Amino acid sequence: MTLGWSQAQEVNEKLMLDAASIESKVIQWRREIHKNPELSNREFKTAAKIAAHLKSLGLEVQTEVGKTGVIGILKGDQPGKVIALRADIDALPVTERNDLSFKSTVTTTFLGTETGVMHACGHDTHTAILMGVAEVLAANKDLLKGTVKFIFQPAEEGPPPGEEGGAKLLIKEGVLKNPDVDAIFGLHINSATPVGTIRYKPGGTMAAVERFVVKVNGKQTHGSQPWSGVDPIYIAAKIVDGYQSIISRESRLIDEAAVISVGKITAGVRFNIIPESAEMIGTVRTLDPDMKALIVRRMTEMTETIAKAYGGTASIEFQNFTSITFNDLALTNQVLPSLQAVAGADQVELVKATTGGEDFSFYQEEVPGFYFFLGGMTPGNTEAFPHHTPDFKIDDSGLLLGVKAFLQLTVDYLNTP
Ligand SMILES: [Zn+2]
Ligand SMILES: [Zn+2]
Repeated sequence: MTLGWSQAQEVNEKLMLDAASIESKVIQWRREIHKNPELSNREFKTAAKIAAHLKSLGLEVQTEVGKTGVIGILKGDQPGKVIALRADIDALPVTERNDLSFKSTVTTTFLGTETGVMHACGHDTHTAILMGVAEVLAANKDLLKGTVKFIFQPAEEGPPPGEEGGAKLLIKEGVLKNPDVDAIFGLHINSATPVGTIRYKPGGTMAAVERFVVKVNGKQTHGSQPWSGVDPIYIAAKIVDGYQSIISRESRLIDEAAVISVGKITAGVRFNIIPESAEMIGTVRTLDPDMKALIVRRMTEMTETIAKAYGGTASIEFQNFTSITFNDLALTNQVLPSLQAVAGADQVELVKATTGGEDFSFYQEEVPGFYFFLGGMTPGNTEAFPHHTPDFKIDDSGLLLGVKAFLQLTVDYLNTP
């Protein structure tokens, strides 16, 4: 059965009313989760809270997926496509600095250092929004044509060293299978986007993040006699210089931005010794798959050949943190009217890409996906503290639009043949 226009209109109105009626509940959940943040792969209490909620709604619930993930499956009364909605649930080792009544006072030891724990990226809001969406859709499953998979994902910020985690692990454990997901949607709250606004970009939206390590080998000698050795510090400097020419001279910057940053150089022990070796670590950010391939290839060639030209040797290794958060073009066009319907057309803004990374990108490599940004800045403010900082703040009057956006695009997507 396909809904006629007026019937679809009625369904939408009902869902939006139901969303509005649970707004205070969603805000309450968000504050409880905010007060009790847990680090990546340690989201035990958060997961228990989510699982209890989904079970109370009568959903089929899977726990301990990808360590601490929770999956809820809601089958509509009518058969149809399978849509996945994803929320990340982890917090960060940041000590919260504000006067909110629900401020976190949680502390823990992270990599040997005592630290506060804080939802300093806003994943508490994502969790509460998706719990709200589940509640509304479960209450209206007689109107639902198809299946909704709710993915509450741990460790988006990256698992602790030596552990697997995040979207990669969930995919490995089959989260997009059985039932097979046709499309996936995700959102990120943003501290610098006004409440009521949705921002999006087709194509490359957030960057592929690589970490790289360069090892340069020379030959140790006295600082007064460089001709007797091979100076790895000088070679490292030439390599850093070479990398920047890949961005400025070889990358088609009219297509997308790209960044290479060396963040750390280690070499030597004292002023009058030219050391044996040098090490550099850094990051590459790309928004286009072809540019990424070019940059990785040219960095590898430059590392090896520049070192060789100066009498040393060098190697580079890349470690992939995220892929390109790439909004499928057809899907973006398809969901845009849904977002405009809930936010108002002038509140849905096309934005530039960012060079931050997001592990939602791994799902988008498997199935078509769409990722958008939701306003969390108090109306009237013009400035906000960035994500991952102690003063980071989200105005939870912005959450209702997140619930409505997910509801609208879910129903519209499932009702589109
Ligand atoms: Zn973050
Ligand atoms: Zn985040």
